Amino acid sequence: MKDLIKRCPNCKEYTLKQLCKKCGVSTISPHPAKFSLQDRYVRYKFLKEKT
Ligand SMILES: [Zn+2]
Repeated sequence: MKDLIKRCPNCKEYTLKQLCKKCGVSTISPHPAKFSLQDRYVRYKFLKEKT
C-alpha cells in the first residue's frame, strides 16, 4: 500500500480516485512528509504501545 491516497488541490479532500468527485479536477499525491502513510503507521504503533 503506497501512493494510493490522493488529494484534491481544490477542496483539499483526500480520495483514492484520480479525479475529485466533488470538483472533477485531477487529484495529486500529497507527498510531503506531513501526511505520509508511514508517519501515520508509526503514530498508530506508538499509540498502541502506549495503551
Ligand atoms: Zn475537490
